Parts: sequence; C-alpha cells; structure tokens
Amino acid sequence: MNAEILCVGTELLLGDTVNTNAAFLAKELAVLGIGCYYQTVVGDNPGRLKSCIELAFSRADIVITTGGLGPTYDDLTKETVAEHFGLPMELNEESLVKIQNFFCRIGREMTHNNEKQALMPRGAVVFENGCGTAPGLAVEENGKTAILLPGPPREMRLMFETGVRPYLLKKSDRILKSRAIHLFGIGEAKMEDMLHDKIKDMQNPTVAPYAKEGEAMLRVTASAKNEEEADKLITPVVDELCGILSEYVYGIDVESLQNALVLALLEKNMTVATAESCTGGILSARITDIPGASKVFGYGCCVYANDAKVKLLGVAPDTLKAYGAVSKETALEMARGARHLSGADIGISTTGVAGPDGGTKEKPVGLVWVGISCEKGDAAYELRLSRGYSGDRGIIRNIAASNALCYAIKTLKTL
Ligand code: ATP
Ligand code: MG
Repeated sequence: MNAEILCVGTELLLGDTVNTNAAFLAKELAVLGIGCYYQTVVGDNPGRLKSCIELAFSRADIVITTGGLGPTYDDLTKETVAEHFGLPMELNEESLVKIQNFFCRIGREMTHNNEKQALMPRGAVVFENGCGTAPGLAVEENGKTAILLPGPPREMRLMFETGVRPYLLKKSDRILKSRAIHLFGIGEAKMEDMLHDKIKDMQNPTVAPYAKEGEAMLRVTASAKNEEEADKLITPVVDELCGILSEYVYGIDVESLQNALVLALLEKNMTVATAESCTGGILSARITDIPGASKVFGYGCCVYANDAKVKLLGVAPDTLKAYGAVSKETALEMARGARHLSGADIGISTTGVAGPDGGTKEKPVGLVWVGISCEKGDAAYELRLSRGYSGDRGIIRNIAASNALCYAIKTLKTL
C-alpha cells in the first residue's frame, strides 16, 4: 500500500506558506508503514488540480490532500475529487449541524457559503474537524482511496490524529515502530564511518542517520505484526548502536538536549541554574521550552556586561582583569556564582566570542568556555565553534548552548 501527498494552495507555490503539512503527513505515513514516493504541490486551479489528482492515482493507492476544503469559490478539492471518481455531491446533515454549532459556539453568524462545507461526495467517510469548520473526508472507489484534509495545520493535525490514523490503521495488517537514538558531538560523516558495515545491509529494522546543527540522530525502524514483535526486533539493535556510540549518546526518544536535561534532573530530583554571557538567554529559553521545567529550573542570569558578572554573580574583578571575560576562570566563577545565588544543584555558565567582531589572535571568534559547577567539583570546557561563515554568530550561540546542555547532562550522570 502506498500513498501520495498532494498539497493544494497557491500560497504554497508562492513561498508565502511553508509546507509543514507535507512534512507532518510524510512522517506519520512512515510510522504507519505506508510508503510515500511522491509529494506534489499545486495551486488553487481546477484544471491543474484535476491533472494532479489523475497523476497521483495513476501511481498511488491512497492520495492524501490538504487545503481547499474551505467555504469560498476557490476551495475546490472536494468537488474535483468527486468528479474524478464520478460521484455526485450530497448534503451531509450531521456535518451541517456541527458547522452550525461551531458558529453558535464562537458567537458568529454562519454565512450561506459555509453550507458548502457540509456537501460530501456520495459514500464518503466524514472526519470531524475538532478546531475549525471544514470537515475532512475519505472516499474509496475501485481500490483507490482519497483522503481530503483541511489546510490549516492545527485542524489538519488534530483530524489526522483523531480520524485518519485510526482509518488507515484498519487498512494495514502491519505496523511500523521507530526508536530514535539522539547524539551530540559527532558529525554525520564520522557516524556513518563508525557504523557503515553494521547498518548498510540491515532490512528489518532499518537504521537511518540524520544530522542537524551539531546534533545527530539514528532512527531504528522495524516493521512487524504488532508492537511486541517490533520491540523484539528493535531493542538489540538500539543496544548495540548505543554501545558503539556510547560517548555521544545523550538520550533515546527524548527529542532534544533540553528535554534530556529536564528529564535527567527530574529523575534525580535536582535543579539547575544558568549564568549566560554569549548565549544571552538561549540556554534558559531552551530549558523553559520544556513543559514542567519549573520543577528543575528557577534562576537564569543573563550577565552580558562584566559589571553584571561581578554584581549579580560575584565574579571577582581581579579574575576579569587577569584573565578576561572569555576565560576558563571567569566561566568557573560564573557557574559557581549561579549555583550559590540560586541554591541549585548545578550551575551552568557560558562566556565566549560570538562575533562577527571582537575576536583576537588569542581569543578568536568562536572561542567559548562552558562552566559547570556542582557539589562534586567544578569544571570548564573550551569550545572552538567558528566555521568561518559570515552567519556564524547565530550558530555559535546555539551550539554553545547545546554544548552547555550536553555537559550538564554528562555531569548529572556522575552525580
Ligand atoms: P479554510 O477553511 O481556512 O479556507 P482550507 O482547507 O480551504 O481551509 P486553505 O484555504 O488551502 O485550506 O488553507 C488555509 C490556510 O492553511 C492557508 O492560508 C495556510 O496558512 C495554511 N496551509 C494550507 N496548506 C498548508 C500546508 N500544506 N502547510 C502549511 N500550512 C498550510
Ligand atoms: Mg481555503
């Protein structure tokens, strides 16, 4: 069984809207074990939409569309699909009532053209819209299935989760299950080099490497009759890969470094505080991105100026004078200061030259010190993060924050 994703909307073609719907659907289809070989984007044009639908059905069993289910004249996905299958449009009373109720709830008058959204091709399975008006639908004819979803991502996702996923699961007798090994401090090339012989001929599970800004991920995916059988296939492979790459692995199925840190802190019932110079709050923003962060994080100091490092964290003016703000000594005093000021178990600091100006021969752009302070002792780590690109500043600051998170995770493992 294979599917094709067809996203409808002129705004997508013009680049005004990023096609996040296609990315979401592609991931979901992969998890369901449904192959997806093509994604298409087409504008709100009846003729071109019709030929895209014909082409998609010539090579796929299932075509999933997003967009063009709205009430206006240029929303024509439903009508075009109905025409393709030769099905008449009929009023779906239940959908009409739901649309009327929606307008009643938000206290707005329903206009006549909203009724168009309750028209369905004959025999359609209707998917309720949990946060908007346009219902979605599926129609099946001669072994081909069209699934039509609304364009707004929030509506589309909710509908997929509540209606479409259960509908698709019923069609397949196999499931796909994945586990993701998250790594930091290793490039894609090195990872590939270390694993090539191991993973190149693997069929079930498969192992796929991904890389993004200093981070890497290995997705191990098995196809099986049920979850238990999938786990039996996946677990030994995950264990083996984690063994080979142990020094780089920061978590399994954790999504991000900040997630892994918050989870590790919760597990140990510990807290963390930050003292940031060159990252200017990125570190605390990333920690507080995680729901539940308040249980492990209470203090984040942005100490950009030397004066602030002294006044807020108690960094000694003599240290700044002797070694400078970007130094091991200052990083250590900042981390210690954050820990003592807050009473947290761990203090993390960052201080560095993010550029583009301000670099010297001894302290070039990209030099960053990360300090970690905890009961067992303090440590500082030197990073060289410049890649020599003009847009380095943002990358340096982000990767500095990532390194700080990673060192904090590693420190926690020893506590
Ligand atoms: P509406 O009832 O809002 O008209 P619709 O189903 O007709 O919904 P569209 O009109 O095609 O959908 O798109 C509505 C909005 O949803 C677009 O302005 C755009 O912001 C967003 N959108 C549409 N398609 C996508 C997509 N593929 N990826 C991300 N966003 C999208
Ligand atoms: Mg629309």
